[in-house]
Amino acid sequence: MHEKIALAGPDIGQREIDYVVDAVKNGWYKTYDMHIQKLEKTFAEYIGVKYAIATYCGTHALHLAAIALNLKPGDEVIVTDQSFIATAHAISYVGATCVFVDINPDTLCIDPEKILEAITPRTKAIMLVHFAGFAADMDRIMEIARQKNIAVIEDACQAVGVKYKGNYCGSIGDVGTFSFQGSKIAVGGEGGMFVTNDKSLYERAHHYGTFCRNDAITYLWSDDVGYNYRISNVTAALILAQVERIEELIEKKKRIFIWYQENLKDIKEIEMLVPKEDCESNYAYVVGYLLDESQVTRDELIKIMIEEYNAYLRPGYPSMNLMPGYTGRFPVPNSQRYFQKGLVFPTAMNITEEDVKYVCRCLKKLLGYDEEIK
Ligand SMILES: *Cc1c(COP(=O)(O)O)cnc(C)c1O
Repeated sequence: MHEKIALAGPDIGQREIDYVVDAVKNGWYKTYDMHIQKLEKTFAEYIGVKYAIATYCGTHALHLAAIALNLKPGDEVIVTDQSFIATAHAISYVGATCVFVDINPDTLCIDPEKILEAITPRTKAIMLVHFAGFAADMDRIMEIARQKNIAVIEDACQAVGVKYKGNYCGSIGDVGTFSFQGSKIAVGGEGGMFVTNDKSLYERAHHYGTFCRNDAITYLWSDDVGYNYRISNVTAALILAQVERIEELIEKKKRIFIWYQENLKDIKEIEMLVPKEDCESNYAYVVGYLLDESQVTRDELIKIMIEEYNAYLRPGYPSMNLMPGYTGRFPVPNSQRYFQKGLVFPTAMNITEEDVKYVCRCLKKLLGYDEEIK
């Protein structure tokens, strides 16, 4: 059998090792949080925001976004239907209601016109996702949000380094969140980031992410029920090294993306999605649809790719609208189509051009093309 072709995985170099060793040796006493501070400063400067809080994971950053914006039971948040479930969970943690709306089939990001239809007097925020390295339509979304006086959370967990019309995703709305979980473009194992330009949102998020500790009253006083969402300094050191190398990481991902473009183009049953003109992608993912003319189903295709060819593709995310605990109010046909027909191709950082060719040859064979698999 061919060596395993992993779906995702990072590029770790000497810089990462050096920073982690430095954190383990020296990140204590007076310098116990030196890598955290440096990571927050470096990331804020990179994205172009005033404030950044490194968190244990992206989900915590999302929860802090919901807390900072003071979302509560009775409030509605318009959420894109196609995402990793953490996007919706963060809204549920504060008791607010998710109102899922459909996506644009070409970007897999929330459809702004569907937002308009879902707004009620209870709508307090929009939770969008910059999906798979594609940017949501921020101009239109911000226009709607400002007009209706509702807040915007950008879940940029998959979008470190993605730009929309020259601005970094995550820096455009009221709050942005990022993830450094092991399958993302820049990793810490686990890790996240909350960013904003608004001082009061920053202060509230920081307060709730550190036990609501208020030492101004008395040492270790806590003035509300808070959370410990801090990142560890050792993890911050690893992420710092990755963020310092982000342009190089994006270049590597872009090369993989182009290999897929070249090799998938003559498979007529597969449509690969490419970024639109307003988006400079980080190329972190290669995604597409298995079209209706295919002779195998999407699920059969993934099963055989994994079991017979050791190549780890995965399906689109399930529609959140359909999950227990979330009752949908609006139809989401585009999201459901991606759920049923979506394909995510392996783009681990260690994949070679030969591997991509192998994956595409296997796909062709499965789809009835005349292919030899060695
Ligand atoms: C990965 C991811 C998250 C969650 O981030 P964690 O760091 O795993 O908690 C949230 N939203 C999206 C869109 C993601 O891709």
